[in-house]
Amino acid sequence: MDINILWQQCLTLLKDQFGEQVYNTWIVGLEVQYEDDQFQIIASNMLVHDFIKNKYWDKISQVLEVLSNGIPAELIVRKKTEKRTVMAGSVATRTPNEKPKETSQTTTSKTRPKNTVMDKEILESLQNATKLNTNYTFDSLVKGNSNQLAYAIGLHVTQQPGNKNHNPLFVYGGVGLGKTHLMQAIGNAVYKNNLKAKIRYLHANDYIQDVVKASMRQGFDELKKYYNGLDLLLMDDIQFIAGDKTKTQEEFFYTFNTLIDKGKQVIMTCDTYPKNINNLNERLISRFTSGLTVEIQPPELEMRVAIIKCKAEHYKINLDDDVAFFIAQNIKSNVRELEGALNKVLYQAQFSGKGISLHVAKEALMDILAIEGRNVSIDDIQKTICDFYKLRISDLLSAKRTHVIARPRQIAMTLTKELTQHSLPTIGNAFGGRDHTTVLHAQKTVNALRKADDKFEREYNLLMQMLNN
Ligand code: ADP
Ligand code: MG
Repeated sequence: MDINILWQQCLTLLKDQFGEQVYNTWIVGLEVQYEDDQFQIIASNMLVHDFIKNKYWDKISQVLEVLSNGIPAELIVRKKTEKRTVMAGSVATRTPNEKPKETSQTTTSKTRPKNTVMDKEILESLQNATKLNTNYTFDSLVKGNSNQLAYAIGLHVTQQPGNKNHNPLFVYGGVGLGKTHLMQAIGNAVYKNNLKAKIRYLHANDYIQDVVKASMRQGFDELKKYYNGLDLLLMDDIQFIAGDKTKTQEEFFYTFNTLIDKGKQVIMTCDTYPKNINNLNERLISRFTSGLTVEIQPPELEMRVAIIKCKAEHYKINLDDDVAFFIAQNIKSNVRELEGALNKVLYQAQFSGKGISLHVAKEALMDILAIEGRNVSIDDIQKTICDFYKLRISDLLSAKRTHVIARPRQIAMTLTKELTQHSLPTIGNAFGGRDHTTVLHAQKTVNALRKADDKFEREYNLLMQMLNN
C-alpha cells in the first residue's frame, strides 16, 4: 500500500465531501503518518484538533478506513517541541528502532470490522472521485450491429483489466455514438467488481488543465504520482491533447507508459483512428495502437428504434412503435440527436396536452425534418446506385432479375426505405411498379447480407454516407 497515494486519494474525496472552503481551511493542512499499524493524522495545534474532531473526524476516519480496507486512524496534535517532520499531503514513516512520538492527545476512530457495509454517503463520494457517471452502464447501452464488437470487447476488459491483449483499449468513432457511454460503463463495472480500484475518468481537456496547473506551481511530481497510481485511467476525447501542447503530450506519454508497463488498464476514446489525429506525436500514435483498437459506427435503423424504445422505457413512457420508427427514420446522424429528438417529442406531447402520437411527433420534429430530410429523393438514390454499380436507370427499373442488377436494386430499395418517408407501396411503384412485398423482401435480404458479409456492410455504409452528404 502506498500511503502517499492513499492520502492523496483521501484528500480528493474529502474535498468533494466538504467543499473547497472547508477543505482549504481545515483539511489541506493536515499531515499523515503511519505508526503502530494505524494512521496518525496530525493537526498543527489544539484548536485545529478540536475543531476537526468535533466536525469532520467521523468522515475523515471513515474515508481512510474504507480506502485502506479497515486500517484505523487517530487524530493527534503535533507536540510543541516536535519538529515538523512531515509535509502536508505527504507521509513520514518511522525507522524500526525509532520510538513512537509522544502526542498530547489522541482521538481514535471507532474500530470497525473489516469490510463493513459502507456508509452510503461515503460510497457515493468514493464514486465521485472516479468522476464516473453512474447512469452510463452496459445495461443502459443498447447493443446493435454498429457497436457489437466494441460492446463485447468492453465487457471483456471488465473481466481482465490490464490484460495486454487489450491494453490500451482505443475506442473511436463519430460524435454522439456512445464512446463516452461505453468507456464509463467499463469504469462502472470495474468499480463494482472492486470498490477499491483507483479509477479516474476524465476528459482530455481536464488533463490539459491539470498539466497547466501543475506547471504553474512546479507540481509535476504530484501530478505524476496521482496519475501513475491509478488502476484504470479513462481518457475521453484524446484528440484534444494533440496540437501544440507538447508538454501535455510528454506528460501523458510518461503516465501512459508507466500505467501500461505496470499492467494497469488505459482506455481512450477518440473521434478518429489514431493515425488520423493531427499533430500527435509519432511515438504516441504507435503506442495508442499497440493494444486493441475498435470502432463504433452509426447505428442502423433497427438499432435506432431499439435505442429510442430503451430511452422511453427508462422514462417509463409508453411509446408506440410507429412513433419510435418515425423518429428513428428521421434522425440518422447520431444517438445524442436521437435522444434530443425523443425529448422534443415528449415535451411537445406534454406541452400541447395531446399526448404522444405520430402527429405530435411530426409537429415536434418539423424543423429537424426540414434539415435532415432535405435532399434525398428516390431519384437521387437511384442515380447514386447506378453510378456506383455502373448500371443504367432503365435496367434498375426493368423486370430483369440477373444478380448484377437485382442486388443493387434491392440495396436501392432498402436505402430508400431508410432514408425517405415513402411507404413500401410507393417505393415499389417507383422501382418499376413492383409490389410492396418485393420491397420488404429486399430489406430483409439486404439486412441479412449486412450482418453476414463485412464487405457488403462497408459498401452499404459507404452508399449511405454518399447519400447523406
Ligand atoms: P460520444 O462520446 O461518442 O460522443 P456519448 O457516449 O456521449 O457519445 O453518447 C451520446 C448519448 O447517446 C449519451 O446520452 C448516451 O447515453 C447515448 N447513447 C449512445 N449510444 C447508445 C446506445 N448504444 N444505447 C443507448 N444509449 C446510447
Ligand atoms: Mg464523448
